[in-house]
Amino acid sequence: MRGLMQDRQLTIPPLLSRAETNFGHKRIVTGGATETVSTWREVAPRVRKLARALESLGVPAGACVGTFAWNSQRHVELYLAIPSSGRILHTINHRLHHEQISFIVNDAADDVLFIDRTILPVIWPLVSSFGTVRHVVVMEDGGDMPLPDDPRVLDYEELLSRQADRPFETVVEDENTAAALCYTSGTTGNPKGVLYSHRSVILHSLLLLGADVFALSERDVVAPIVPMFHVNAWGLPYAVMQCGSDLVLPGSIRDPEQIVSLLSRHRVTFSAAVATVWRDLIPALASHDLGSLRHIACGGGAVDDALSRAYEQIVGIPLTNAWGMTETSPVVTTSRLATHHDNLRGEARRLLIGTPGPAVPLTEIRVVGDDGTVQPHDGKTPGELQVAGATIARAYFGTDIGRDGFTSDGWLRTGDVATIDEWGYLRIVDRTKDLVKSGGEWISSVLLENAVMADPRVREAAVIGISDPRWGERPMACVVPAAGVNLTAEEVRAHLRGRVASWWIPERIEIMGEIPKTATGKWSKQALRRRFADPATGSP
Ligand code: ADP
Repeated sequence: MRGLMQDRQLTIPPLLSRAETNFGHKRIVTGGATETVSTWREVAPRVRKLARALESLGVPAGACVGTFAWNSQRHVELYLAIPSSGRILHTINHRLHHEQISFIVNDAADDVLFIDRTILPVIWPLVSSFGTVRHVVVMEDGGDMPLPDDPRVLDYEELLSRQADRPFETVVEDENTAAALCYTSGTTGNPKGVLYSHRSVILHSLLLLGADVFALSERDVVAPIVPMFHVNAWGLPYAVMQCGSDLVLPGSIRDPEQIVSLLSRHRVTFSAAVATVWRDLIPALASHDLGSLRHIACGGGAVDDALSRAYEQIVGIPLTNAWGMTETSPVVTTSRLATHHDNLRGEARRLLIGTPGPAVPLTEIRVVGDDGTVQPHDGKTPGELQVAGATIARAYFGTDIGRDGFTSDGWLRTGDVATIDEWGYLRIVDRTKDLVKSGGEWISSVLLENAVMADPRVREAAVIGISDPRWGERPMACVVPAAGVNLTAEEVRAHLRGRVASWWIPERIEIMGEIPKTATGKWSKQALRRRFADPATGSP
């Protein structure tokens, strides 16, 4: 017998009516050369006009519409208008290599691109390599590059001003219709597309509201510092439309002082970014009142405890870790202190919420050994982390690519090595490809990095494996000293003694000015491997 509940499809268009009707007065702030403040009541008609503009440009249903944009009100308008009108929102990271950008635009066959004027100088020189793009719509954000004299170039506001405010023409009938496309950053091979459905976007936005997830509510002021092109700002813009919190977006601001000022002035309660960003903001923290912050989400990588401690000391709360990847919408786990942690105090509490934590509702995690057996939840037996759920990809965009990324029983293989404890709490040991195999034993680059960064004289540390005739591989640490500190390799080794097993201590330690970053702000171990590759073999 079937249930007797309404068979309503989970699609994005109702998000706009919800935001407009229930939260019409709530604010969308965009930082930048000129800070702007808008409300959903003002944004909603613009979204409908934008959908009609896509119609007028002849963008077919199901076509991809690319965005190269900062976190801004206009980007939010695109987040709503593109999928609500039956097209696919394709957010692209303009910091990727040029060849990767061209590959991604052509692979997605983007029909129209929306580009912030400050980003135009990076993208315009590549436009001739984009085979399918018919129009480039420029969004004015204070950039000074003159508009190219080209019939394909249009102005966003002019385009909107020509449209009437009428309901969406297309109705998204099936919740499994594609809504958004993001590419993995392609650390190995070409980037791979992950195609989210309306249903997965809606389910993920609801997950984020959970009291044991991010607990977002109408009372919050949410500031995604994580870019809207990095797994769609981890789904936060859509979550905000569900719960009606104010949305504070940094626009094109990159300066730590200005970002912290934005968080402080707008009394932000919840913010999210990768560790590199949180580290960059530290010097600006003390001069602003950040007492409104109740949750600082740090995802995309491990939380190093020295960083979290700095936030605890200066802002009053530590960083809360979350685990995810492009293929997983992205949030799969986030940490929290449960009743069985009530006996934990001080440092132990901070350390606990600095780990990835348990799976959020609707998602399942398991770790699988080399022989294919699911490992026990004992907190110590590692295996490959695999995930399943309605917000997890089941295949990549495009035929046949990445088949080996999924198991025969339909779980996503993450390429991370992890353990799960008796309470379901996940710990990442390392990425499979970042583990260092020394004399047949594994060394976790993540744990070793955190041990190095526990030294206050160290700003950043990244560990890679380098080939070694005796041990096969040995860890090598790339260390950036804190500002004004003179640090030697021997001092780093002395700090590590007693903190890690003696055979983990790297013989080779490079003191450097900066660790190369990926386009999403994580350490680029690939770049480090290239740089320190063994000249004899050409391999690290
Ligand atoms: P990329 O890092 O290639 O840009 P993603 O943004 O999809 O791609 O990153 C996913 C990867 O980031 C995961 O497979 C994992 O290795 C790493 N990661 C994400 N969150 C965490 C975390 N909380 N702790 C450790 N590693 C993490």
